[in-house]
Amino acid sequence: MAIIHELSPHLADLIAAGEVVERPSSVAKELVENAIDAGSTRITVELENGGISYLRIADNGCGMSAEDAPVAFRRHATSKLRTEEDLMAIGTLGFRGEALAAIASVTRIDLFTRQKGAIAGLHLHLEAGELQTQEEAGCPEGTTIVVRDLFYNTPARMKFLKKDFTEAGYILSVVQHAALSHPEIAFSLIRDGKQVFSTDGKGKLIAPVFAVFGKELTADMLEVPLTERNGMQVHGYIVKPHAGRPNRSMQHFFVNGRYVKSRLMQAALEEAYRNAMITGKYPSGAVFLDLPLAAVDVNVHPAKIEVKFSQEKPVFEAVYIACKNALHAGDNIPQLTHRERKAAPAPAPQENEQAAEQQRFAVRVETDASPARKVNAPKLEDFLLAVPSREEEIHANVLAAASPSVFDADVPPPHPAAPVMPAQNTVCGKGSEPARGTGRAAAEPPVLEPLDSGIRVIGECFQTYIIAEDKEGLILIDKHAAHERILFNKLRAEIDMPQQQLLVPVIVELTGEQAGAVQSQIEEVRKVGFAIEPFGENSFAVRSAPAYLDSGDIQSVISELSEKLLSSRAVVPDRLDELIHTVACKAAIKAGRTTSLTELQDLCRRVMYDENVRSCPHGRPTTVRLTKYEMDKLFKRVNQ
Ligand code: ADP
Ligand code: MG
Repeated sequence: MAIIHELSPHLADLIAAGEVVERPSSVAKELVENAIDAGSTRITVELENGGISYLRIADNGCGMSAEDAPVAFRRHATSKLRTEEDLMAIGTLGFRGEALAAIASVTRIDLFTRQKGAIAGLHLHLEAGELQTQEEAGCPEGTTIVVRDLFYNTPARMKFLKKDFTEAGYILSVVQHAALSHPEIAFSLIRDGKQVFSTDGKGKLIAPVFAVFGKELTADMLEVPLTERNGMQVHGYIVKPHAGRPNRSMQHFFVNGRYVKSRLMQAALEEAYRNAMITGKYPSGAVFLDLPLAAVDVNVHPAKIEVKFSQEKPVFEAVYIACKNALHAGDNIPQLTHRERKAAPAPAPQENEQAAEQQRFAVRVETDASPARKVNAPKLEDFLLAVPSREEEIHANVLAAASPSVFDADVPPPHPAAPVMPAQNTVCGKGSEPARGTGRAAAEPPVLEPLDSGIRVIGECFQTYIIAEDKEGLILIDKHAAHERILFNKLRAEIDMPQQQLLVPVIVELTGEQAGAVQSQIEEVRKVGFAIEPFGENSFAVRSAPAYLDSGDIQSVISELSEKLLSSRAVVPDRLDELIHTVACKAAIKAGRTTSLTELQDLCRRVMYDENVRSCPHGRPTTVRLTKYEMDKLFKRVNQ
């Protein structure tokens, strides 16, 4: 028969410590949160050996009185929560009164604290949660806690710690998240004697964003201005669509100032980039959501990193709309900037590792700096994508309205819309005969008049990129990607997509499996622009198709569509997008073929006037810019 007895307070603390204190970064997190709750404006975190042997958190907050300080280390001692109602509306980061007791139970602690205006401060020393000494001490206003020898009395737990470097990395994340959510606090992280992270505490979010994301990624960021929706507010910084990363490690979400992991917010952010970011790449950013305290429960996880929203849909919507609008408003044309390659000088002594890191980004040091290479012509890799200047943004905004374009639905498409013979080659048709556009181009003057916006199409290079200029500089447009995007948008809007009636229907032969897929989802195939009917076993008759599609491509497009229908587990709208991609890609002007200047000009106009055409459906940019200033720099016409 079991004998029930109460756990000793020390044992209870140890068990609680298992939940709250998992590794040095969890200690850092709790202590930094206490410092924030204490109203500090400057918080310094210092660590050695990944925070295992030494972790010090110093703040300039309210401090504790001589009566309160020892009590703070008792379990469930808190100054932040008094009633059950308080629990429903938690505004401070800490609330359980558990952290100090739990941390103290598995470490040696020195606490120095002095309240604002108090004559003397206080020093406490604790080991394994037991108060050893308590004495008056001269110390600065605020609180400093030094935590040594984590898990010294529970060696089994030591085994679960990782290498110092990894543990230090976790602590860096803790400080970064705190800094992002509190631009008004100056944070500093010192690792083994070196400052590795700092923010100025001047209250502007861009400062911690710069410190966390680094110079290059920050240059590719857009501000999400404060957006109100469904009684909540969203703001932050997110990257432009062309700056996707291979993973989600640079996504940071905050709810009411608290860093959280939220699949819901992640999904909303990524949805905002749909069809704008390359498949397999992920957006980065810091997104802040503020909502009534009662609409969110932070009490579901011991480390308080997960939240529960009382209603998910409005949260998703608020985050999605704020991010989507930011992406729309921004000028998403990546800009080429020239980066001088420097010969390898002895690197200047760095104040700290963070500066060294930024320096590494900023200067590409060439190890092989023989004199012969000094006058090298600039190479492509010398160009970096960067944000457009304010003037360019303004310029883009004042472009005049577009005149009708051959890419508009109500104007005949660049090649015959109707009717065409199935076997006949059109402009985009395969075969060796020159595309019709070439002939037209030859008959036209070599350079066209400027568009009404002041953009002049100069021509194309590699039969792939349109070259144009405006008063800011050069514009390069990937003609296939741009046209593909225009068609994609049209098909997706399900309006105005001209169709071509085929004089003789194209008979498409499929495998039994493919035919089954098309048969069962024939409405979806029709939605993307085909008049298609079953025509005997495993065959279909196509009587009309999207206008730009070469009739010779119909067989291959339908069989590609059937493969997508077979393999896709996506929900219907996503699947439709996939089908539309296929059609748009096939129908778009191909790279590697000459296109007439009129068509180039139309395409250019469409791209410059329609920000929804700035990336192809797979997220690759359609347009890049090289400013005149950057060119002048290349030719040394300006001082740099
Ligand atoms: P909680 O943060 O959940 O209240 P803790 O165990 O982390 O519980 O802290 C207990 C109490 O100690 C806090 O409520 C607060 O009153 C006090 N305290 C802890 N750290 C600080 C600090 N850095 N400055 C001022 N007071 C502090
Ligand atoms: Mg706390």
